[in-house]
Amino acid sequence: MHRALHLCRRVPIALDAACAPESACRQRSYTHPAVAVGGKIALEEHVILPSISEPGAAGSGPSVNDPEYFADVRQRLGDSQRRLEDMDRCGIEQMVLSLSQPGVQAIFDPQTAVEAARRANDELASHFIAAHPERFLGFAALPLQDVDAACRELERTVRELGFKGAMINGYSNLDSAEGVQYLDEQPVWEFWACVADLGVPIYLHPRDPLPSQQRIYAGYPALVGSAWGFGVETAAHTLRLMLSGLFDRFPNLTVILGHLGEGLPFLLPRVEHRLRHARPAARGRHTQPLMHYLRRNFFITTSGAFRTAALGDTLEELSADRVLFSVDYPYETMDEQTAWFDSLPISEADRQKIGRDNARKLLRLA
Ligand code: ZN
Repeated sequence: MHRALHLCRRVPIALDAACAPESACRQRSYTHPAVAVGGKIALEEHVILPSISEPGAAGSGPSVNDPEYFADVRQRLGDSQRRLEDMDRCGIEQMVLSLSQPGVQAIFDPQTAVEAARRANDELASHFIAAHPERFLGFAALPLQDVDAACRELERTVRELGFKGAMINGYSNLDSAEGVQYLDEQPVWEFWACVADLGVPIYLHPRDPLPSQQRIYAGYPALVGSAWGFGVETAAHTLRLMLSGLFDRFPNLTVILGHLGEGLPFLLPRVEHRLRHARPAARGRHTQPLMHYLRRNFFITTSGAFRTAALGDTLEELSADRVLFSVDYPYETMDEQTAWFDSLPISEADRQKIGRDNARKLLRLA
């Protein structure tokens, strides 16, 4: 299982390649080790499916992305063979696959969302996982527009399809673009009770902020999505979960956040500090310090966030036991992410934990 994979390309990766002028960048190059660190498991890895084929909403899809980049992403989202070649080259043994955002969360009609989720999960199992069950695992798409149906679909996908949990793309629409429900709101607690019973993790993945909340990005549409708005939206959604008291009611819940925790390992101490000075009624219903929840109820992945100093801060706040390797493929490249991870100046024990062992425990892999 833990084979030493060979032939990861020796490509220098300029981490700050996007910034300009060049003299302003702190250029640091990473080169793949001669032997890639094998056996890695990656958890934020996306696909498109025949029935839901259009990835990306306004801030992250074809409207703002470079067409050449997005054409390549789109092709890779549906191509198992190319994905497996990339995985072999970069030492990724297994991937947990999920439908690309915003997925079923963006469907207005609850019944349509219920049917779409079921179809998407069946297709994920039959199109991707069935052909390569030793390489591909699944996170379910769930129709939170109908909380009871979301519970039943999570149970079905975990018990019948062998999925390892679910990926939820932020808030779910209800009947309109502005009618939405966040995951901390009371009707959804019935869903969290099901999650607690099943004992599986929920990956909270970003999506664009509500159309009415994008004024600050006017004139700079590329900031709405993955460059910035995704992180702000998801970090705020996570604060809602924490402040609601959800993790007091269900202390065993596990939520996974991508992109090094959407800034929270760095920002949460200040949130906690300032909440001390808020009126009690304005602070929410939580009973524990917010960092307590981050350390107890969350795992953080490295998806699309290959910055050594930021990882160091995350490890210091959470420890290597709560961090998981991920790529965010195919929006990010496996070469870039793995070249960074495999050559990180961390102990080999921590590299094993983050690259593989933590995921094996969390996903209960044999
Ligand atoms: Zn992603």
